[in-house]
Amino acid sequence: MTAGTRVRHFPMHVGGKAVDGGDHLEIRDPQNGELVATAASGGAAAVDAAVDAAQAAFDDGGWSRATPAHRASVMRAVADRLGERLDEMVELEIMANGATVRQATGFHVGYCAPHLEYFAGLAERYEFETPMPRATFPVLGQSTLRREPIGVVGAIAPWNFPLLLSLWKFAPALAVGNSVILKPDEKTPLSALEFARIAEECGLPPGVFNVVPGPGPDAGARLASHPGVGKIGFTGSTDVGREIMRLASGTVKAVTLELGGKSPALVLDDADLDIAVDGVLYGCMLYSGQVCESMTRLLLPDSLHDEFVERMVARASTIQLGDTRDWETDMGPVVSAKQKDRILELIQSGKDEGATAVLGGGEAHVEGYQGGHWIQPTIFTGVRNDMRIAREEIFGPVLSVIRYGSEAEGVALANDTQYGLASSVWSRDNSRALDVAEKIKAGSVWINDAHQINCEVPFGGYKQSGVGRELGPRALDPYVEEKNVHLDLSGTRDARPYDVLLS
Ligand code: NAD
Repeated sequence: MTAGTRVRHFPMHVGGKAVDGGDHLEIRDPQNGELVATAASGGAAAVDAAVDAAQAAFDDGGWSRATPAHRASVMRAVADRLGERLDEMVELEIMANGATVRQATGFHVGYCAPHLEYFAGLAERYEFETPMPRATFPVLGQSTLRREPIGVVGAIAPWNFPLLLSLWKFAPALAVGNSVILKPDEKTPLSALEFARIAEECGLPPGVFNVVPGPGPDAGARLASHPGVGKIGFTGSTDVGREIMRLASGTVKAVTLELGGKSPALVLDDADLDIAVDGVLYGCMLYSGQVCESMTRLLLPDSLHDEFVERMVARASTIQLGDTRDWETDMGPVVSAKQKDRILELIQSGKDEGATAVLGGGEAHVEGYQGGHWIQPTIFTGVRNDMRIAREEIFGPVLSVIRYGSEAEGVALANDTQYGLASSVWSRDNSRALDVAEKIKAGSVWINDAHQINCEVPFGGYKQSGVGRELGPRALDPYVEEKNVHLDLSGTRDARPYDVLLS
């Protein structure tokens, strides 16, 4: 983008309308720092207006009282349209978060349509009413358990998978009839704003899905504390997750939190190195390590350590950094200058604490992209589990290798973290790996693989990696209230136990 070139502007999307005015966010391409778009930025007042619009749409009933089949058909139409506009949506993500075209097409945006279709199918099969067993005590009666939409739901999303992680919240919420307000991350609101327009073209009534980009401590905090919002779905850092819980507690809102991780890859001494070396690198370095469940701690048995490290360093040296829109590029930049500085500070801490960078260990320089935020793929050996690079989430392409002796020691190291989002175990012996998996305290244990996120399987964290689960067959449950409707069948006045009060 040359000086003076006009960039596209994205207004907020509230009540089915493009809403503007006030502050603007500058969206910059992480690979060169150039301004590529602007977006409207809302604060508390914009959130309040969005809550009013969402509540009005909910009360209108066009979506909240529509049949599940109708809601599913609209969601499928949106999924089809996303498929038709895949390249355009991929570009909207890449230009803001620096994913490579291969990653964004395969995962970031490519996963969205199948996930939407999955939630549509869940809506069609969902048990909105369950007859309970007939009660004979204390009186004859029949209860029916109804599952009703909560009303207005808030979703707060991070920048790493801007549309997909938003969709994990708003799609189940919409599937059961809620209205939604999404607050995307300040750096990456574009794909969600475009999605809102696409959804309405496909039949979603105005006001049912609203997108308000804006600063977290302002727009996000208002959404989390707003008395008109009944539920918050959040993905982001553990620190902000704590703050969301605190804000939501004021109105006793339910929360689902997907937070940080420091996931271990536990290689057992009988691992197949042809698979494990590539698998561990894929597990750590995908999307420059900016994935919440990245395998950032590699636990290697003494017997395999040297050979594994040698092979892994050779393999990692082939990772090509470059233009994110080039299909040959393996790895792009990290998302922002702030993120780059934090990663470099943590890399320095690893060196200061005595670890050895056997690969990388600093800023990368990519020809033609001087203004970008580039980090070398970095592998540290000699890491102890009490070093900062083993304890803190780096969110960059940095792998910490920790040695262990016995299998029990390996398992103890895997669990020695405040986090519990994901993990992997690498072994040729399936039953041994399954035994080890049972001992690991994490929401996912992938045996001989990594990043196996599948909409049909629940995802979320133990310990400080989160509260609740997203995806899987019960993905709609967090977005309903259960109501027991009791119908008295006893008939007579005397059958009722009123005499405990009224003699
Ligand atoms: P972040 O917590 O800084 O921001 C996430 C969202 O919260 C953004 O929309 C931000 O604007 C908003 N926010 C910030 N402060 C807020 C406040 N006071 N009140 C309300 N909202 C506020 O995280 P990030 O930098 O966007 O993402 C990186 C983090 O997210 C990493 O820690 C990563 O592990 C985690 N993450 C987790 C998952 C998961 O599924 N568990 C997935 C992706 C990212």
